[in-house]
Parts: sequence; C-alpha cells; structure tokens
Amino acid sequence: MLVLLTGGSGFIAAHILDGLVKRGIPVVTTVRSDNKAKFLAEKYPGHDLKFEIVPDVAQKDAFNNALKNHKITHILHTASPFFLNPKDPQKEILDPAINGTRGILEAAQEHGPGVEHVVITSSNAAITYYDARHKDPETVYTEKCWSNVPWEEAINNPASTYKASKQFAEEAMWNFQKEKNPKFRLTAINPPYVFGPMKHDVSAATLNTSNKIVWDIIKSSTIGKAGPTYWVDVRDVAEGHIRALERPEESANSRWYTVGGIFTPQDVLDVLNEMDEFKGKIPVGEPGSGVPLHSTIPKYDNSLTNKQSGLKYHTLEESVKDLAKQLNTLE
Ligand code: NDP
Repeated sequence: MLVLLTGGSGFIAAHILDGLVKRGIPVVTTVRSDNKAKFLAEKYPGHDLKFEIVPDVAQKDAFNNALKNHKITHILHTASPFFLNPKDPQKEILDPAINGTRGILEAAQEHGPGVEHVVITSSNAAITYYDARHKDPETVYTEKCWSNVPWEEAINNPASTYKASKQFAEEAMWNFQKEKNPKFRLTAINPPYVFGPMKHDVSAATLNTSNKIVWDIIKSSTIGKAGPTYWVDVRDVAEGHIRALERPEESANSRWYTVGGIFTPQDVLDVLNEMDEFKGKIPVGEPGSGVPLHSTIPKYDNSLTNKQSGLKYHTLEESVKDLAKQLNTLE
C-alpha cells in the first residue's frame, strides 16, 4: 500500500498523516512549499514519507507528477481552500475545489495504474439544504441528502461560495465516476465543522477556519448570537478517512457522514468555564441554555456511516478541552 495524501500541511490532513504513520503505512504527501515539507519530514524521521510540491491544485495536471513518480495505490484528497467570504469566489475557492477534485481523479485514471481507491474530503456543506428545509427542525439529514446551491449564488454571494465549492466538487467526483467508469473505488467523507487539537504547523495568525470558531469564543467579551450547528472531532474525521481505505467493501461508492453532534457557542463556553485556564476570564453566559436549542435545527441520522465505518465519536467536552489547552499556548 502506498497512500497519496494531498494537502498534508492542513489541519485535518496532519491527523490523517499521523494515523497513517502510526499504522506503518508509507505515504507520499503534496504540500505547497519546501518549508511545509520540512516541518512534516522533521516530525516523522525514519518513516517512509515522501513529498511532491503542488503549489495550486487548481492548475491543470497539478497531480500528474505525484502519480507518475510513485506507485500510488490509495489516494486521500483533502487539499481544498476553506475560508469564508473570498474576494474572487471562482479563482480563490471554486476553481481549486472543483478542478482539484477533477484533477486528482484524472491523474489517477491516466497515470495511476495501481490506484485502487480514492477518498475525497467533502463536507456537510454538500449535504445540508440551501432552502427553507434547512430551517425546518423536522428535516433529517442523512448520507442521501444533497445541498442545492445554484451556481449563480456561488459566484455572486461570497458567503455561500465555500458551501457551494464542496457541493460542486463532490458532484464532480460522482459525475466522473458515471462518465469515466474508473476501476478504482470512490468514497466521500462529509464532516461538519471540525474541532480539536492541532498537529500541523500553526500559529494564532494562521488558525484554520473551524478551530477559529472556538478561538473567537474564547477571545470575545460577549456571547455571539450564532445558533446551533453540527460539529465533529478532527481525530474522528481523520480516522474515518483511513477506515474508508481499510474497509473497502463498506466504503466503496459511499458518502460517510461523520457527525459528532450539534453545538452552540454557549455549550463551548460551558466546557471552557470548567477549565482552570479560562474560568473567570471568559463570559459565563447562561450555563445549560445551549442544549435545548439543538432541537430547533434539522436532525441528522448518520447511523449508516457509523455502521459501515465503526466510528465512535469524541464528545464536545473532550474536543474543546484538548483544543483550548493548545490554543492557550498560542498567544
Ligand atoms: P486547512 O485550511 O487546514 O487545510 C487545507 C489544505 O488545503 C492545506 O493543506 C492547504 O495548503 C491546501 N490548499 C488550500 N488551497 C490550496 C490550493 N489552491 N492549492 C494547493 N493546496 C491548497 O483546512 P482543513 O484541514 O480544515 O480542511 C481540509 C479539507 O477538509 C478541505 O477539503 C475542507 O473543505 C474539508 N472540510 C473541513 C472542515 C472543517 O471544519 N475544518 C469541515 C468539512 C470539510 P496550505 O497549508 O499550504 O495552506
């Protein structure tokens, strides 16, 4: 087995890399610069870990060398921009997400005769509706649901661009399967907001988008009005990617909807206020008032994913505590 992991310098990918290394699996990872490769190489001396520099996944043939230079058998494609409100939605987010997904699949098809399985990091953003059903607590999200952002919204409403990028990228993957009938298996992993400790090279200034939510709650002197939404721990998402490779019969042609739970900012505050590091330094809000709000948004049923993957999920308390301890050292 030789795994190609794209975007190895990212928050989720660093946990995937760690899991692969711990299992003794050789890895080739793409990163955008030599510096990023150096950080990872120093972390895992002695492990069979190689690098390919791919500065921009949106470029045509971005992954060809990675496939030509190594006898790749399995691919985990995580590299994709995750930030909100881009200035140029198409160039900054949509092109890398969609072209990057098409590009890795085309490279596997054309230059990867040994590729058996490709797993793409999609998102809950490709599942939850972009219409009134998303406001209806009777809605139940499952692996079968598809987001429905129109292309015009993706381009003209930057607040929706990231969500749309995940939807269009995942659609591109399943369309590729229909049109090209590749001999490799395909799986999408669909996590909601991912929280948890970080293994990548990170500073307060370069915090990834999802963990920054917890950082902003710690730093804010008021309690935001953000409503409940879905979340999962990074260790469970990473494990899901690796298990997809380890359980091909269960994961082939599947979307794994890896959800740990629902949270509100108040729930995060309740956890932080139990910690000596934060008690007395952050708002208290109204303890316990977050949980009753969980039932005001659509439910989710990811029992199929859990049966196929065997995943068990960290609690919000575990995830926030492990992350917050680390954030406290980033000042
Ligand atoms: P990060 O921002 O930490 O990681 C993104 C990775 O993609 C980095 O390695 C980054 O490289 C790379 N990348 C971004 N744009 C490009 C580009 N144009 N060309 C080459 N590489 C690029 O985010 P996450 O780890 O959180 O996200 C990883 C994946 O998970 C993404 O596909 C994201 O959409 C998905 N996801 C994340 C969720 C979350 O809450 N975190 C939820 C659901 C899905 P560099 O390090 O050099 O910037």
